[in-house]
Amino acid sequence: MTRVFSGVKPTGHLTLGNYLGAMRQWAAVDQHRAESLFCIVDLHALTVDHDPARVRRLSRQAATLLLAAGLDPELCTVFVQSHVDEHARLSYVLECVATDGEMRRMIQYKEKAARERARGGSVRLSLLTYPVLMAADILAYGADEVPVGDDQAQHVELTRDLAVRFNQRYGYTFVVPRATVPHVGARVMNLQEPLAKMGKSDDSGPGIVYLLDEPEVVRRKIMRAVTDSGRDVVYDREARPGPANLLEILASCTGGNPSELSGVYESYGALKKDTAEAVVEVLRPVQETHKELCTDPGYVEGVLRDGAERARAMARPTVDAAYRAIGL
Ligand code: ADP
Repeated sequence: MTRVFSGVKPTGHLTLGNYLGAMRQWAAVDQHRAESLFCIVDLHALTVDHDPARVRRLSRQAATLLLAAGLDPELCTVFVQSHVDEHARLSYVLECVATDGEMRRMIQYKEKAARERARGGSVRLSLLTYPVLMAADILAYGADEVPVGDDQAQHVELTRDLAVRFNQRYGYTFVVPRATVPHVGARVMNLQEPLAKMGKSDDSGPGIVYLLDEPEVVRRKIMRAVTDSGRDVVYDREARPGPANLLEILASCTGGNPSELSGVYESYGALKKDTAEAVVEVLRPVQETHKELCTDPGYVEGVLRDGAERARAMARPTVDAAYRAIGL
């Protein structure tokens, strides 16, 4: 059976981008068709300035939201990365296969390191080695497929390189995975800056819809979305990124097609109104289930404990084999 691994970073509250681009697909498709592991990758949240209590809180919240979004612990494995030592164990071994030049070439490292330095901060070494830990996350489970947004494609490519190199040098140990980039909704953009991805790190951003935003807040953010001075509603990602983003969000929520939908609307106001309502409806069941789950934190704890146990049992043989192969 195909094995799928994917994760979310607890660096902020989960967004509509995380939901439409990833979680919804995991729940509706992946967990039914493949042996799936979904991980709250908390070790990755430590690569930039962080507040320990907040990371812990956000990890728990992310787990609760994954379950609220429909991940079923009977069908898939939901767990927290730091609960399974195999990730860090394997990461070190892979650091002995990767090169520093390879790490420094990663686009995300270059961008994030530049931002950090521009703010006068220092760059944590873990930011540089982050892709190796991500490779370990994937290779430890022998995952065949890694559903990720295109921002992560380069890291999956590196994971493949490391797996192939390790296998060639030390004998076949790792399945070589491939990235699968989702469908419509793969790139939800910021409502205020439609050329930037709707990322979760800016917590107060008016351009970001969070999964736990109240309906009124969702409506306000979408009604204030940046469009342009055009009079007609046209679907053109390059020339009209703001309206295109709204059309894609609406299409993704209603199962429609953005370019067909553009013909239905004569004004941005009407498009925004319908988009807002569609988002509110998509979020409603997730928010309701989240609320219920919050009344039973013991349940979520139990799911994460079982998940870690299952994950450990899957990862250990591969990581042990890698240790033997490399001479330990
Ligand atoms: P973030 O960029 O929010 O920190 P994560 O690294 O936690 O995201 O990603 C979790 C999943 O959500 C990944 O599969 C990622 O590709 C997807 N994702 C995140 N933001 C968006 C977005 N704006 N549009 C589509 N998918 C997204």
